[in-house]
Amino acid sequence: MNLDANASYSLLPELRLELFSAKGGKEALEGTLNPSSVHRGGQRSRALVEEARAQIGQLIGLSRQEHLVFTSGATEANNTALFAPFWNRVKSNKLPEEQAIISTRLEHPSVLAPLRRLAALGFKSILIAPDSSGRISPDSFFENERVSPALVSVMLANNETGQILPVPEIASAVRSRFPGALLHCDAAQALGKFPFKFSDLGVDLLTLSGHKIGALMGVGALVIGAGVASQPLLYGGAQEMGQRAGTENLVGIVSFGLAAGVWRTKSAELVQGLSSNRNLVRRYLQDNLPEVIFNFESGPKLPNTLSVRFPGVSADDLVVALDLEGVCIASGPACAAGKPEPSHVLLTLGLDPAQVSETIRISLEAYYDAGALEQALAALVKCVKRMRKTRGEA
Ligand code: PLP
Repeated sequence: MNLDANASYSLLPELRLELFSAKGGKEALEGTLNPSSVHRGGQRSRALVEEARAQIGQLIGLSRQEHLVFTSGATEANNTALFAPFWNRVKSNKLPEEQAIISTRLEHPSVLAPLRRLAALGFKSILIAPDSSGRISPDSFFENERVSPALVSVMLANNETGQILPVPEIASAVRSRFPGALLHCDAAQALGKFPFKFSDLGVDLLTLSGHKIGALMGVGALVIGAGVASQPLLYGGAQEMGQRAGTENLVGIVSFGLAAGVWRTKSAELVQGLSSNRNLVRRYLQDNLPEVIFNFESGPKLPNTLSVRFPGVSADDLVVALDLEGVCIASGPACAAGKPEPSHVLLTLGLDPAQVSETIRISLEAYYDAGALEQALAALVKCVKRMRKTRGEA
């Protein structure tokens, strides 16, 4: 039972049929060869890649002037976007220390780690902190008067809290003040669950990930706006319009396109499914565990994400106890699993380390088998009560 959909959404049932059933799977992928080859097998693959590109483009309203470049995931797309100023700087004739990269303290490690690397290479890296209500205000990007940013990167939806950041407002404020800055947005968690169009965001570069919407793992995309000077991270062949060398992950790309098609055609139904599941979880926990605390509930949020604290219960122990009950849940982002440090996002948003250690993330899918969600919640309540009792007795 996957209550950890922000780590990976389960493969959509529609895709299981299309990709792996004897009929659908064979039809979709039979006879495919290298998409760069000129023969028929290559052309068949090329057509599938282009069909997937169009499907994802339709989901986020891309025009012909914008390019969607397939990558191995959101991590690669984020790295590609963040390193663009590094490659561009030779052209701009500016010293790296004259240029800043501004982002927020709420970002995913696949943004924060490249930023640290860029700082080591001489770029000034500035991380905006949220205000006391947890919001990132557009004005906070202008606090350092002497800085002219080469790139500003802000996520659309936070993976741990589900919080939606005001990307269009930030983009328009930054654009009017710093017309030369590249604007990047990591929308890995928002895609599908918080429907948006590329043009609504006002950014130059946009990161997407397939497995967050029920496609296979190992595929993502970087959208490059019209006329934007992005630079590849990988060099080699001329794949992906010269923006990303390497033979395409055909099956992954096909799955991403199919998943995008499902989220586009069933958007209202899926978003409704996510939010009614979230409401059910909230009600169930409130009814059965009155001491439960729902963190960061104010402001716009993804419809599927809850940050939940059970005072007196270790989140790490709860994750293990629930795993034994067949329920997958997270005490933090999957990429931080095994790391002893408390979540930088929860700390930044004002929880203390003890509170962080009692916080789990519940991130939901739109559909579960009948009764399965309530069964999982019953297991959660049972584990919390048992762990609290054991602790009281100790
Ligand atoms: N950005 C955000 C906000 C994420 O939540 C994640 C994954 O959790 C990533 C980037 C990295 O995605 P991928 O697994 O596709 O590299």
